[in-house]
Amino acid sequence: MKKKFSYQPQSAWKKLNAPALREKVEALTKRYIDFLSACKTERETAEYVCRRLRQAKYGEKFSGDRVLCCLRGKAVFAAQRGRAPLRDGLALIAAHVDTPRLDFKQRPLVEQTCVVQAKTHYYGGIRKYQWLARPLALHGMVVRENGEKIPVSIGERPDEPVFCIADLLPHLAQKQGNQKLNEAFEAEKLNVVLAHSPKIAKRDNRDKADEKNGDSVREHLLELLHAKYGICEEDMITAEMQAVPAGSARFVGFDKALVGGYGQDDRICVFAALEALLQAKSGRRNRAVVFWDKEEIGSEGATGAASRFFEYCVENLLPGTAPANRVSEVFLNSRALSADVQAALDPDFQDLHEKQNAARLGYGPCFSKFTGSRGKYGASEADAEYFASLRGLLNAKGIPWQSAELGKVDQGGGGTVALFLAAYGMQVIDFGPPVLSMHSPCELASCADLWFTVEAYKAFFES
Ligand code: MN
Ligand code: MN
Repeated sequence: MKKKFSYQPQSAWKKLNAPALREKVEALTKRYIDFLSACKTERETAEYVCRRLRQAKYGEKFSGDRVLCCLRGKAVFAAQRGRAPLRDGLALIAAHVDTPRLDFKQRPLVEQTCVVQAKTHYYGGIRKYQWLARPLALHGMVVRENGEKIPVSIGERPDEPVFCIADLLPHLAQKQGNQKLNEAFEAEKLNVVLAHSPKIAKRDNRDKADEKNGDSVREHLLELLHAKYGICEEDMITAEMQAVPAGSARFVGFDKALVGGYGQDDRICVFAALEALLQAKSGRRNRAVVFWDKEEIGSEGATGAASRFFEYCVENLLPGTAPANRVSEVFLNSRALSADVQAALDPDFQDLHEKQNAARLGYGPCFSKFTGSRGKYGASEADAEYFASLRGLLNAKGIPWQSAELGKVDQGGGGTVALFLAAYGMQVIDFGPPVLSMHSPCELASCADLWFTVEAYKAFFES
């Protein structure tokens, strides 16, 4: 065969022509859709991951062959020992479990014009208008003074009510229409409607209740919350309550070739990395995954990538192994994938991308040699040696891949957890599927990219 000297990325769908393979892709996508629909918060995602790992005989003992460690219900580390000594390093895949959303304020409840709303403070990068006039579900954790935990999830099942932020009607939006986008939608107006009917007063108090109608919807809501969850207003101050888009993820398109759903950044990588860990044939190299929280707000915090959690977990793997396994050696010899999504070339905003270096839906998982912005500021760039070896690995297995930057130079940018792993001296590169409408309530990902991301992560673990 004649050797081609030029390079063109290839559509991943071309490798999925066999009907039997298409069926497998659809089956995997269905499981992914169920996962996305069930896991709307970092806690729910961590719980799902731990449940599946336990089913696969991962345990909390660090001396075991399959190790699982969850921090505060929000960050998860799992490792599978290989035949090689630990000092040879880990094959590590890191992803994040948190997603942009609307967090309730600590004192959320306000009553105005016969409705009670919850005031919110958004988490992560959102486009505020996308959260108006759409059904929202509430997910969270209320903890009583005595430590008792009350998980909350309401608005997902068809028989449950949903919640909503009202938007301005077009008839009165003339002035708003002339405002700048950033000024037209105010964070302090992202108030979620929770209730509308007043408390039914006792017969002899009815007239009095009418007089001070002000607090009665709020009182009614507090009564309902107490009846349903046994909680009072003070419990909300210490609670974590998140408003997220209600409803299931879905296939999108007549050909069902896309998945639409909330939180695919970065749960598609969490799902793919978990699948890869559970499916990969046992091998030489020690393997690990780490799923961090707080990526969307800069990776700070006890459960974020900037914390010591991952380091502690690797240290805990060392006792009982061959002598001279130093944790620094493990880090320096590790190879990591920072598994995060890349912005797909947007058909309607192609001019914001530099097309030759943009990720395309359906062209397989995408490498980003660096992230950051303004002259690669804030980037941990992968070295040519590592990038080339991964390219060789995927080519040998016939797994399609692509390479991209996030948008045109000086157009914007973003960060991932890669730099926190690079800080240990390990080789790391960003590698994940492209996503359209990133950070929106309905992100779009290609089923072909999902399939080949799992295949690529598997190949990485087996290498
Ligand atoms: Mn991400
Ligand atoms: Mn993100």
